[in-house]
Amino acid sequence: MVCRHLSGLTNAELRNLKTRISDYLAFRQDVDAFLDQYFSSLCTETCYQSRLSACCSRDGIITFFADAVINALESSEAQLDLLKERLASPHQGNKCVYLGETGCLWQVRPLVCAMFLCDKAEKEVLNKNLRAKGTWDKLKQREKSYRWPDRAILFDDIEDLFINAGYDSTLMYLHKSPGLLRIKAMRDG
Ligand code: SF4
Repeated sequence: MVCRHLSGLTNAELRNLKTRISDYLAFRQDVDAFLDQYFSSLCTETCYQSRLSACCSRDGIITFFADAVINALESSEAQLDLLKERLASPHQGNKCVYLGETGCLWQVRPLVCAMFLCDKAEKEVLNKNLRAKGTWDKLKQREKSYRWPDRAILFDDIEDLFINAGYDSTLMYLHKSPGLLRIKAMRDG
């Protein structure tokens, strides 16, 4: 659905959309840099080498509709084909369907995945390093500014764009989740 709509946009419309997500992508780079600096060795040792990857479990993923749109905008056709193949094949095991041999197959992982830290990681790093904790708290605030609808937010705008074009998806939480709709109603008075 996302690919179909994006392929019908004009170059100018695509450029506009890419400009609209550029600030979010900069935020995601900051998240990746932070995780790389403070968690890379711990996560590699604890989960990757042991092939535990507990956070990428079958039921662990919550994806916003905007996650799929942003990932599609940042992916090549071949990268998107790989995701489609994964979804079309029968899925066994207890790992997320998008987990490949070298990690996540998304180019821009879903936001909830990117911001997930397990209890062990939080305890080992954030509880012992106030500077890291301060940076993480700021990143969590920035995260809210894209997906928490107590103000106008990117994820809501992206859903609007597709709804106005006649699309509907269960992943459009900003238009379907009773909790999020309540927050929007309070915001709009
Ligand atoms: S989408 Fe990617 S990061 Fe998220 S759970 Fe699946 S493999 Fe892991």
